[in-house]
Amino acid sequence: MKLEELLKKCPKCGSQDKTAQRKIIDEHKSRATLKAIVCEKCGYVFESEENNKKEE
Ligand SMILES: [Zn+2]
Repeated sequence: MKLEELLKKCPKCGSQDKTAQRKIIDEHKSRATLKAIVCEKCGYVFESEENNKKEE
């Protein structure tokens, strides 16, 4: 996730307040990955580029 993504305005409501949702991969190792950026106001989900591309 790039910083630019976090600074983008919500296309729905124009709010810049966002919540980063994290997905726990392994509870024992406490590993978490960024799942999505969600608008705090209207709940709009910003798609993560990292979910679409896999460069491994
Ligand atoms: Zn919004």
